[in-house]
Formats: sequence, structure tokens, C-alpha cells
Amino acid sequence: MKIRILSRNPKLYSTRRLVEAAKKRHHEVEVIDPIKCDLIIEKKNPCIYYKGHFLEDTDAVIPRIGASVTFYGTAVVRQFEMMGVFTTTESQALVRSRDKLRSLQILSRARLGLPKTVFTNYSKDVHEIIEHVGGAPVIIKLLEGTQGLGVVLAETQNAAESVIEAFNGLQARVIVQEFIKEAGGADIRAFVVDGQVVGAMKRQGKEGEFRSNLHRGGSASVIQLTDEEENAAIKAAKAMALGVAGVDMLQSSRGPLILEVNSSPGLEGIEAATGKDIAKTIIRYIERNE
Ligand code: ADP
Ligand code: GLU
Repeated sequence: MKIRILSRNPKLYSTRRLVEAAKKRHHEVEVIDPIKCDLIIEKKNPCIYYKGHFLEDTDAVIPRIGASVTFYGTAVVRQFEMMGVFTTTESQALVRSRDKLRSLQILSRARLGLPKTVFTNYSKDVHEIIEHVGGAPVIIKLLEGTQGLGVVLAETQNAAESVIEAFNGLQARVIVQEFIKEAGGADIRAFVVDGQVVGAMKRQGKEGEFRSNLHRGGSASVIQLTDEEENAAIKAAKAMALGVAGVDMLQSSRGPLILEVNSSPGLEGIEAATGKDIAKTIIRYIERNE
């Protein structure tokens, strides 16, 4: 098969591993920078022009689209879809996953456990907003943040009110969420491919840090999921219509609570923690859909 990986940087760990895994299984593979693709749209024969030639005979694409290029990257994935090419991540699902608020709404409709969350259009009733999620301590998250930046733990009612008012003043959209204390500064990342959990790890924040992001100094270790956690991860990926997903969950006294579903989950942390060849599971997913 001819597999094209849509990635801005062939040197990234995840991109390199996917190339390696595809070659190992005797596929032809090429890394394409999505933002250098020209899309040619007409009645018949939609096509893509890239670095002086047309991208023909593609059997499958693996989108590895970063948050900063969601708009253009998604258009490229959609163009491949118009050309009848299989994609491990559909353009619609990719767009949806990039909208934190919309994602939480979709997950709630699927009746998945979530930390109780409030979103408002800069409401002045800050006190009520905090009450809606059970009072302080609360978590306040910038809607646009990633890698744990823009996630604040406000321990008291006063602190929470000031932080929300400050963000409101900057016209920065936030969500306010109940703080899940018993998660103990850890979260779970379940890597789902084609409706199955293919690897899971627990990420623990460094001492005194409630955020478990590896980018914030957290550490990862392999974990055996409970049936409930495994089912929640599978259901979350399905609700988001993602063939490949990184489902982040908190362990709480009322079961797993989904934090977010990542549509371009990194392979480095999960392969290191589990010792599993996750890249291969993605290539095999493509083979099954040939
Ligand atoms: P990002 O997308 O920027 O990584 P997250 O929503 O995943 O933001 O939050 C970052 C980290 O903060 C999570 O991995 C988790 O460890 C912690 N965290 C987030 N929300 C909560 C919450 N409601 N209760 C307790 N801890 C949380
Ligand atoms: N983009 C990374 C991933 O999806 C985030 C990892 C992290 O924030 O710890 O795996």
C-alpha cells in the first residue's frame, strides 16, 4: 500500500515511528507537510498538488495535525477523503476534537463520566459559576490552552473569583471545573486504535503539582486499566468518532472521568511506558480497512 503521513516534521518521534512501522510491513510511505499542499477542487477529479507533482495513488493517510495548523490540515484531510482515500482520523472528528467545549458536550451526550464543568459567556455572576461546580477549590482552564498551560487550581472562593474575573477582563474564554482531589495529581492516558485500548499509562505530576502533563515535569508508568476505565476510553473514542485517540481520564471516587480526547496523540510517552509497538497497531488498522 501507499501510505502518506501528514506531518509538518519528519523528525518528530511519532512521525519517525509510523514511517518505520509502515516500512517494516512492506508499505510504501511518504511524509507530506500538509501546509505545503495545494488543493484543487472541481466537479470531477479532486486532487492535491505537492512540491511540483500531484499526489496520486494514495491508499491511506495518517493525519498528525498539530493544533496550530488545524484549519489547513483538516482541509487537506478532507480533500483526501473526497479522493476516496482512507484516513485513520476523519476530518470532521479532527475538527470536533480541537474544540474543548464541543468535545465535553459530545462526551456528556454519550453519558460518559466527566468532571462537572461550567462555561459562560463572560458572566458577571462569578459567585454562581463557582457554586455550580460545588464551590472552591475549582479548576479554571483557558479554552485555548494545551500541555497544561492555562490550567489553574484556585483553592479558595476568593482566588477563584479573582482568576475568573481576570480572564474575563482579558476576554479569554475559560471553563470552570470541579477539582477532582482524589486523582492525586495523576491522570490516565489510554491509547485507543480502532475501538480497542492498545496501551495505557498513568502520568503522575511532580511533587506538589496537580497537573500530570509530561511537559510539566510529570512521569509516566504502565498501568492495567479496570474494565470500567477501558470501557470509558473506548466509548469516548467512539463518541468522538476517532479511529486513533488518546483518551485522558482522572480516577475519581465515582469512577473514571474523561478530561479530553486527543486526536493526534503522541507515541513517545506511551511506547516508552508500555514497551509496546503502538505505531504497528496503527499500520495494522489501515491494513484492515484496505
Ligand atoms: P491540557 O489539555 O492543557 O493538558 P488538561 O485539561 O488535560 O489540560 O489538564 C492538565 C492536567 O491537570 C491534567 O492532566 C490533570 O492532571 C490536571 N487536571 C485537569 N483537570 C482537572 C480536574 N478537574 N481535577 C483535577 N485535576 C485536573
Ligand atoms: N500532545 C501530547 C500527547 O498528545 C501531550 C502530552 C502531554 O501534554 O503530556 O501525547
